[in-house]
Amino acid sequence: MRVQCPFCGERDSNEFTFLGDASCRRPDSSSGVESFFRSLYVRENPAGRHAELWYHSGGCRYFLKVFRDTRTHEIFSAELASETQA
Ligand SMILES: [Zn+2]
Repeated sequence: MRVQCPFCGERDSNEFTFLGDASCRRPDSSSGVESFFRSLYVRENPAGRHAELWYHSGGCRYFLKVFRDTRTHEIFSAELASETQA
């Protein structure tokens, strides 16, 4: 797979570290243990277009939000994670 990094250009996916679902949010501190357990260990496994968090460890070292189809591995776009909304 090739990823279009907004800073480095098109790069091989081996330069990136996959960090999972980009829509996950840390629960409120008053949410309780069960809520934290679910946010850490219980994840969806969606088929189709999905927003993921990737870290460009072999390049610019920015965190990116990558939009990818989990069935075909087609990557639609990548953007700086801190500039995006969930
Ligand atoms: Zn980069």
